[in-house]
Amino acid sequence: AEPPRRSYSVTLLPGDGIGPEVVSVAKDVLSLAGSHEGIEFRFSEMPIGGAALDLTGVPLPEETLAAAKESDAVLLGAIGGYKWDSNEKHLKPETGLLQLRAGLGVFANLRPATVLPQLIDASTLKKEVAEGVDLMVVRELTGGIYFGKPRGFGTNHEGEEIGFNTEVYSVSEIDRIARVAFEVARKRRGKVCSVDKANVLEASMLWRKRVTYVGLEFPDVQLSHMYVDNAAMQLIRNPKQFDTIVTNNIFGDILSDEASMLTGSIGMLPSASISESGPGLFEPIHGSAPDIAGQDKANPLATVLSAAMLLRYGFGEENAAKRIETAVIETLNRGFRTGDIHSYGTTLVGCKRMGEEVLRSVDSEK
Ligand code: ATP
Ligand code: MG
Repeated sequence: AEPPRRSYSVTLLPGDGIGPEVVSVAKDVLSLAGSHEGIEFRFSEMPIGGAALDLTGVPLPEETLAAAKESDAVLLGAIGGYKWDSNEKHLKPETGLLQLRAGLGVFANLRPATVLPQLIDASTLKKEVAEGVDLMVVRELTGGIYFGKPRGFGTNHEGEEIGFNTEVYSVSEIDRIARVAFEVARKRRGKVCSVDKANVLEASMLWRKRVTYVGLEFPDVQLSHMYVDNAAMQLIRNPKQFDTIVTNNIFGDILSDEASMLTGSIGMLPSASISESGPGLFEPIHGSAPDIAGQDKANPLATVLSAAMLLRYGFGEENAAKRIETAVIETLNRGFRTGDIHSYGTTLVGCKRMGEEVLRSVDSEK
């Protein structure tokens, strides 16, 4: 029997550069995958970043933030470009993204790094090491040393100029990011590795204690701990050992970029940012790629896979998410590649055509 029809509102924020091209593809894929699973979407499109600056004079118009907050999820393309590079800080496109994240209160950033067998040659790792890598970095996004006080510049006792920052984490901040990580691991292979520097830093000692404590609520998930210096090494040496990595803001910033480079395919990597109870923010990890913007050359798959994360982590629509991910794999299996992942013996296509082929794959699934 047809399951009950479910309806969600999604705010599309195409942004700048290749953003509009990749979001347009992801929107069509989301619609079609939804229609196969009894899901209906109400889309609204709003300006952000450079596009919003040109239109309204600010990088995040009030109307855009209001629409985002009222919807069930937000799908973003990319932000920024040469045109606005010399703008003052409050008039930079990127400021719009920071304001959006703050406005939505997204405290957990999820970034998968998966080496697909079809794209294994793009990996920076040796084939034996790259094969089968499939991990997720869960990064705390709103606390830690990037926001801790006191911070600033000053003078030390010798009269020398100093700069200082403070790493601060509270029990509630650690507990909620730990819960996200354990929930994520449950939907994956049931393993969490918490990364810290508990041998040196008090904030990390509390981190380790609380993650361990929250872990008791998840007896089905296997928890381990690792120091960040070792984790940075293990990611290169043997990344297959990881399923879900949970870590603080600064370590997550570094480790998620390191992990993404293992795959070597920036045009393939999605992300999700989750809040306590409001809408999540879903976006590709790549930027606006102004060098190829408007030329129908962009790889839309990172945004398409972000739409799959939207379904899974935003709405709990696992079947629809799987349908999109399977369609992406199937499209790669049929040999279609955009320029960034093209290799000998595959079919070079543009952004639009890649989108059409993914739609075909979505339709061909039972
Ligand atoms: P940011 O805007 O976050 O600072 P960046 O400037 O470091 O990002 P990107 O804008 O992601 O980097 O682009 C780096 C290069 O990678 C681009 O010049 C482009 O050639 C390539 N690239 C990025 N995303 C894609 C994509 N989706 N498809 C094809 N190529 C891409
Ligand atoms: Mg850029």
